[in-house]
Amino acid sequence: MSSGLLTIDLGAVCANWRALDTVTRAETSAVVKADAYGLGMARVARALATAGARTFFVANAEEGAALRQALGPGPAINILSGHMPGDTDMIGDLELVPMLNSVDQMIRHVESLPGHSFGIQLDTGMNRLGMEPSEWSAVREIMLQMNPRLIMSHLACADEPDHPMNQHQLSVFKEMTDGLNTQKSLANTGGILLGREFDFELTRPGIGLYGGHPFDEAQSVVSLDIPVIQCRDLEPGESVGYGNSFIAERPTRIATIAAGYADGILRAISSGATLFANEIGCPLAGRVSMDMIGVDVTKLDEDPKSLRLLGAEQSVDDLADCAETIGYEILTSLGSRYTRRYIGI
Ligand SMILES: *Cc1c(COP(=O)(O)O)cnc(C)c1O
Repeated sequence: MSSGLLTIDLGAVCANWRALDTVTRAETSAVVKADAYGLGMARVARALATAGARTFFVANAEEGAALRQALGPGPAINILSGHMPGDTDMIGDLELVPMLNSVDQMIRHVESLPGHSFGIQLDTGMNRLGMEPSEWSAVREIMLQMNPRLIMSHLACADEPDHPMNQHQLSVFKEMTDGLNTQKSLANTGGILLGREFDFELTRPGIGLYGGHPFDEAQSVVSLDIPVIQCRDLEPGESVGYGNSFIAERPTRIATIAAGYADGILRAISSGATLFANEIGCPLAGRVSMDMIGVDVTKLDEDPKSLRLLGAEQSVDDLADCAETIGYEILTSLGSRYTRRYIGI
């Protein structure tokens, strides 16, 4: 086999969902947008539905349609981008619930699908999606008469527990929803970890389900093993890969493995990433190319058949640190060429 093997532990995804569900008093939904952060929306969502998740969030109606196909009738599928032009048939036919973000979206929704379920997204300071306080106070009474299913907002700084923005958004959200009986939701993964006053009636974890920061107690979900194509010996002074950026200082054994930036392995990890043969760390050598990476395997007793880039030895967040990015970007960059194996269910 010459493609990398991406192993996704659905048992760990479900355990992470249950662990986050246990800490709150609220219903726990599951955010499965962007193909469940790159791990495969249909497989992940079906596993979570079996574990007890009844409400799902996706980014847009197309993702919602694919999710309905995977889950069948029953579970609530909420659309974060709301009701966009062209979405009406999907929303209507597939029982999707748009989170309406503006008066324009509200008008589009009630004119095209009168009586169809919807939720409302409020902006409490992130300035990305949702109605601002002034817009909301203008339409609040009309919208409430139409029985929204959910009123939600999103935290901008939830992964920084001491950031004053968290308390600020909490108090704005409370003010904007004061006295309402509608189901409310504010917390993503980081929000769940901030404390019980962020619970409301529904939480919306994403990254924590997939083993990422800030849910640092999460079980590891993803491992990535990349086959070795060829090994060779270098004399001191010889170089590896584009730009000669690795130069051997001593006799060195280099393994060339079968994945590169076309598989979502960010080129920015070239300086500093490690690959693992069992538990032994071997430094990446030279630059990540499109389909290949050089690895210094000098310290191994024998040539490895494959090397591991992600797993218990090196988490998604460890690799993100090498590239000065976040675990979310590592996961959602995972390529389509890997052979995917689902375990744990
Ligand atoms: C992506 C997203 C989430 C999930 O956030 P995590 O940080 O991955 O837990 C929740 N709510 C909204 C509105 C989102 O866009």
